[in-house]
Amino acid sequence: MHNSLITFIRELYGSSDFIPLHQPTFEGNEKNYVSNTIDSTFVSSVGAYVDEFESALSSYCDAAATVAVVNGTNGLQSALHMAGVTRDELVITQSMTFVATCNAIHWLGAEPVFVDISDTTLGMCPLSLAGFLDEYCKLSNNVCLHKQTGKRVRAVVPMHTFGHPVDLSRLIEICQNWNLSLVEDAAESLGSTYKGQHTGTFGRFGVLSFNGNKIITTGGGGAVLCKTKVDGTKLKHFTTTAKLPHAFEFIHDEYAYNARMPNLNAALGLAQLEQLALFIEKKRQLAAYYADFFKGTAFKFVQEPQNTRANYWLNAIVCENKECRDGLLKYANSSGVMMRPVWKPMHQLSLYSNCIAHEMRNTEWFADRLVNLPSSVPSVE
Ligand SMILES: *Cc1c(COP(=O)(O)O)cnc(C)c1O
Repeated sequence: MHNSLITFIRELYGSSDFIPLHQPTFEGNEKNYVSNTIDSTFVSSVGAYVDEFESALSSYCDAAATVAVVNGTNGLQSALHMAGVTRDELVITQSMTFVATCNAIHWLGAEPVFVDISDTTLGMCPLSLAGFLDEYCKLSNNVCLHKQTGKRVRAVVPMHTFGHPVDLSRLIEICQNWNLSLVEDAAESLGSTYKGQHTGTFGRFGVLSFNGNKIITTGGGGAVLCKTKVDGTKLKHFTTTAKLPHAFEFIHDEYAYNARMPNLNAALGLAQLEQLALFIEKKRQLAAYYADFFKGTAFKFVQEPQNTRANYWLNAIVCENKECRDGLLKYANSSGVMMRPVWKPMHQLSLYSNCIAHEMRNTEWFADRLVNLPSSVPSVE
């Protein structure tokens, strides 16, 4: 089985060399746009590509406004700050996520609270979220308070794992009932839709990442999709040193970040975005080949949830148990085909092991069994 899987993957990529988990594809205007920035000298904090990239993202995702930033982690931190998260507050997220989600919360002086994931989406489980709120929280003057600590719960951050959208309708309803801000960690799900609408546009903010391993890359970078133009303007101000417009004076009116995406990176991003639809088409085809291969085997291929269209950023399978997972990981990686387990759950990292954690049944079950497969955009049709 292991051997036939390796052969299958090598055939998919038409390669007998090392096959990485995910590498970027540059087959469009990348060199052209990047060298334009060099020719024009506008490589840094001024330049037309940033504006173009932001408006292209807004129209692709159908967002009211988009702000490009230096990376997804800063995007999360900026968005949560704009959503009102401050020191000593609580932010509910899922334990199965990349550590950046939690670090963004931490550096605002707030603390993450972990709820379980759903076994159909691999993202935040609405039942677990509602269960936690019902049992441990109360609404007081429309402010959600954690009963035991008295701390305010300000926001909820679901993450669309590997590009598979979470059950947004139910999460939105719960957030409305409890007066909580919804901020989507859509770092992995650019181009994925839920009931026909782009992930990242359901919450007040949705955060994208363009790190080198994501579906499109700017080298390093991120963006925040905003539900309103007003939020977009405020967020732009906050991420660009909060300088008031003036012909020559330097007046700043907020403790802000310098998190603007450089023009050099935006040029690369714009060229990548032009190919995103094609990348997604090819990735969905790749996913269909994988799904077919794993039919009737001991491995369960992770399919897009109902009512969604996933970008299949990273393909994944569920192994029967941890021993099977470890056997596969060992075999594949020593055969030059990269496979990876999912992240260690956040409530098990010493950094976050003291945080409040609700039930973790699915999180711990999947943490032992998930394996990511090579998922670069195949160059073959
Ligand atoms: C990649 C990623 C981020 C962080 O993005 P960076 O651009 O690397 O800072 C945040 N959350 C999730 C779930 C991610 O996968």
